[in-house]
Amino acid sequence: MNIDQILGKLNKAQNQAVTAPLGNLLILAGAGSGKTRVLVHRIAWLVTQQQVQPHSIMAVTFTNKAARELRERLSALLDYSISDMWVGTFHGLAHKLLRIHWEQAKIPRDFQILDADDQLRLIKRVQLSLNLDPKAWPPRKTQWFINHKKDEGQRPQYLSAPEGDRYHATMLNIYQAYHDLCVSNGQLDFAELLLLAHETLRDNPPLLQHYQMRFKHLLVDEFQDTNTIQYAWLRLLAGGRECIFAVGDDDQAIYGWRGARVENIQSLQNDLSNTQLIRLEQNYRSTKAILEAANSLISYNNARLGKTLWTASTNEDSVEIYNAYNELNEAEFVVKNILDFSSKNPNLANIAILYRTSSQSQLFEEALLQAQIPYRVYGGVKFFERAEIKDALAYLRLVANPHDDISFERAAGIPPKGIGKRTIDLLKNHAMTEGSSLWQAVATIPSDILGKRAINALETFTKMLESLRNETQGLELFQTVAKIIETSKLPDYYGSLKDGTEIDRQDNLAELVNVSRRFAREYGTVSEVNLDIFLANSALEAEDTANPNTSNAVQLMTLHAAKGLEFPLVFIVGVEEGLFPHQMCFNSPNGIEEERRLCYVGITRAMQKLYLTHAKSRRIYGNEYSHIQPSRFIEEIKGVKGSKDAIPQFKHVPKYQDKNVSNLRIGRRVMHSKFGVGTILNLEGQGSSARAQVHFLRFGTKWLVIAYANLETLD
Ligand code: ATP
Ligand code: MG
Repeated sequence: MNIDQILGKLNKAQNQAVTAPLGNLLILAGAGSGKTRVLVHRIAWLVTQQQVQPHSIMAVTFTNKAARELRERLSALLDYSISDMWVGTFHGLAHKLLRIHWEQAKIPRDFQILDADDQLRLIKRVQLSLNLDPKAWPPRKTQWFINHKKDEGQRPQYLSAPEGDRYHATMLNIYQAYHDLCVSNGQLDFAELLLLAHETLRDNPPLLQHYQMRFKHLLVDEFQDTNTIQYAWLRLLAGGRECIFAVGDDDQAIYGWRGARVENIQSLQNDLSNTQLIRLEQNYRSTKAILEAANSLISYNNARLGKTLWTASTNEDSVEIYNAYNELNEAEFVVKNILDFSSKNPNLANIAILYRTSSQSQLFEEALLQAQIPYRVYGGVKFFERAEIKDALAYLRLVANPHDDISFERAAGIPPKGIGKRTIDLLKNHAMTEGSSLWQAVATIPSDILGKRAINALETFTKMLESLRNETQGLELFQTVAKIIETSKLPDYYGSLKDGTEIDRQDNLAELVNVSRRFAREYGTVSEVNLDIFLANSALEAEDTANPNTSNAVQLMTLHAAKGLEFPLVFIVGVEEGLFPHQMCFNSPNGIEEERRLCYVGITRAMQKLYLTHAKSRRIYGNEYSHIQPSRFIEEIKGVKGSKDAIPQFKHVPKYQDKNVSNLRIGRRVMHSKFGVGTILNLEGQGSSARAQVHFLRFGTKWLVIAYANLETLD
């Protein structure tokens, strides 16, 4: 690795940031100006030019996906292994710390992590035990309260409600009871990971000193979205040394609703000594028109630190707005433009569809499916939340701990093995009277309660798990996972379903083995990697583990999830008042400004071409809404606030015309770009939903949506 490779493609300000002498550095710069690039090159420069040991580097970012990308970019730039560096999300690194130092943290070695759903379930249970009606005390609100307190570093025992404030007093009661239950269960929620890791370091001076000595460089991407506890964590680790390298953009602060504090940007300059501020002003990502749209929009926000952003690009004609008559027409428009784009540019991963709320994905998924365009949804049904993965995890958990009753119940039921609901209910009753686990109850339940057949089925099940436990001793993690999944017969079972999901589900089960292998590689530095640790981590990693078969696929995600990413072609869909900005933000000026920043994030993901689409009417949860207003953001991107010069290159797209259906007739020969020559067997439907059944010589008979199929008539 020579210095030219590290410094070669950097402008002056970027170079200054990468090669700055050790000190506190804040890189404050707009979207696409190379902040992440500077952070990656800084690490490469430190390691290769400054003789900094990889293990003295900690780099933190915001999402698992961003962390993975950071690791990939680093590996590509460096010749040697980055496994000694700590590169991850705040949550991931806090988890790693607690895994190693569980004793100092005073938690059980095999502690488990609660994901957001698990947490909500536990809160419901706590409220029930306190006789609090969920209607009067919505558990989600409690969850928000608890997480918010944790993010602020506040423990219930140190808090008290203002005189006479019954609401607050009750919330604190629940918080305390919930906390006690988590402690006795050995469970940590996400916010707890950060808080406990912070306290463990703070209250163990030798431990803190060890890490302060170790980490000579702390680098943070997306700094604008750090919350109180994350910022405290950084300061604690820095311990007054000048070693923080933070990059961020106040215009992209989009997690205020979750406790992020953009003020940390200013605090950093006040709290730390000698913080050098570097600005990057050239945008390398987007065309001129896209950047002007973004700059114009964000000029409507008042709360800004202020930045300049320009581009050398001169491409003017690249932002378009489409006014659809309904949501189906919006999806059709998007699909048609994807087909056009992909005919010139075959890599579908260059295309992103971004939306405000995850429920909007369904519509586009259907349209893409119909058009046979591969796609991938991030953060839709999360990998670890898929039914087949939860089933497999139940088996894994049961091998790790036979007394896990929830897993017992799930695994006993699937694949079907003669253990029905009645059997489980009777077994549960028996276990309850005995005070034992379901597993133990199998051995003690009398046959006059259950009957011989059911007992046999249960015994076969527990024997299988017992021999799995023996057979997997000493195997590597991924071999253990593979063996358990195979023996569970889940792949065979899902394969036999024949409901169109079987291939996906089998792929996902296979992917779980890969996930465990990757996990062992990444966690190799933590003494031992076993099933317990992998299972605890699965909750944390649940966010966005990829299915490997869908890499050449259109990317669907929420605007929040798109932060930090870039795509040549971007569609921002549903740009309507009420949806984006979302109506829940209407009452607060800060809320609208945060939505506007979210729109700015979305626009600045686009490199070459950007479409914003909105519909006049839309079906939401089964109700038809008409006369929907386009988002105020659409007007705002047309002209800078206070300026009379509208940006000319901004253009409305004419209505998308359906393909001329009329020249297709049954019996006609047609040409399809992928399937070749075929003969029309059948036609049905009208307008945009018209379909043709075509018999292709090499591919057999298919139903195609005429509007997307681009059939050319040959006769
Ligand atoms: P965001 O605010 O969206 O996170 P960013 O500031 O982190 O953006 P990067 O993702 O680092 O920006 O860079 C944006 C794009 O510009 C990337 O494709 C990057 O490779 C490219 N880029 C950055 N600096 C240069 C440069 N000096 N020369 C050429 N390309 C560059
Ligand atoms: Mg970035």
